[in-house]
Amino acid sequence: MLSTADALATLLAAARRVDGAETVDTANALGRVLAADVVSPLDVPPMRTSAMDGYAVQAADLAQASDANGVTLPVSQRVPAGAAAEPLAAGTAARIFTGATVPPGADTIVMQEMVRLDDSRARFSQAPAEGEWITQQGADIRRDSVILAAGTRLTPQALGLAASVGCATLEVVRRVRVAVFFTGDELTMPGEPLRPGAIYNSNRFTLRALLARLDCDVTDLGIVPDRLDATRETLRRAARDHDLILTCGGVSVGEEDHVKPAVEAEGRISMWQIAMKPGKPLAFGAVRREASRLGEEAFFIGLPGNPVSSFCTFLLFVRPFILRLAGVETVKPRVYSMRADFTQKKGDRRNEFLRARVNDAGGLDVFGNQSSAVLTSTVWGDGLIDNPPDHAIQTGEIVRFIPFSELMR
Ligand code: AMP
Ligand code: MG
Repeated sequence: MLSTADALATLLAAARRVDGAETVDTANALGRVLAADVVSPLDVPPMRTSAMDGYAVQAADLAQASDANGVTLPVSQRVPAGAAAEPLAAGTAARIFTGATVPPGADTIVMQEMVRLDDSRARFSQAPAEGEWITQQGADIRRDSVILAAGTRLTPQALGLAASVGCATLEVVRRVRVAVFFTGDELTMPGEPLRPGAIYNSNRFTLRALLARLDCDVTDLGIVPDRLDATRETLRRAARDHDLILTCGGVSVGEEDHVKPAVEAEGRISMWQIAMKPGKPLAFGAVRREASRLGEEAFFIGLPGNPVSSFCTFLLFVRPFILRLAGVETVKPRVYSMRADFTQKKGDRRNEFLRARVNDAGGLDVFGNQSSAVLTSTVWGDGLIDNPPDHAIQTGEIVRFIPFSELMR
């Protein structure tokens, strides 16, 4: 069986950025991936600005100012934010406000709390440090510099940064097209009564929401019966117009598991079974299609049906794979070293991903029932402990913790 690291490496080695880019309004680009570098056409700020409400002066004029010997300067102009500034007349001060242009000739801002005003003359009782409270032109961004690189996934703050250099639109990679379907004759949709032997299709809700977070174009083909012909037909349909076919359930070894033989008939399986818990039956491969602009094959990833297994394998494998298809370079989650506040006497032969929660003492607790069928553990937890094969955990030991927040960005 493949290790999780080898399995992920195999998956990522196969992923190529999809073809096609589009121009979108910056305001609508949240979560999209930049297709090209964003280069700033200007300095930000574009001029020297005041960082305080106060007075713009030449520091040399106030070198002798003290509590005992205040220096008084006439106020020669008033510069609100958004207005042009005249050069500072020698031996005067300019009234100025936060964000306003510093008049040429002025080298320092004195905040208004330090100044007394008598009859439009400003009295200073301290010598300021030269350059104080002035934000230099280009202090944030230099003209012609790359402010956001191709392959960046746009966060709210990245949208703000692009807007700060005047970008009204952005070039982004087209959305990754994903077809998803669910196998299992026991599956019923919420809203319908449960027949004897049936369960609700919870994975449809988890996986659709995870795909939505990744900003995919999703076609949900619903529940497919546990039959080879039906599975093959759905795979063919899904391959036509999608980059990736994602399935859930039916990839184990039972007679009712038809997904793997169906993919083998319609394409190929290149990887199956990973030494991890939960999630061992994960499958990866491709499904043929008539050659189209999308190429001759659609990628295939088959997730196990157990709810915790499909959740964890999506986060650890499908997420980075989809991000790579979308052109994102950095797809590995940050891993934190944290203290285990519990003991696990015996390690598993497989790489375990334990649902764990950060406690008030800053350590980790684990959920009592780590069964792959117990979805409650995923809501209770804050993330996964990545525990190597055959490793028992002692209280106080430092373990690798991957927060869900890192896996769902
Ligand atoms: P399978 O991978 O098809 O062998 O399914 C493993 C277990 O997960 C079985 O107990 C299934 O009933 C359950 N299961 C499969 N698909 C889903 C689903 N979409 N939602 C909830 N449970 C599921
Ligand atoms: Mg099944």
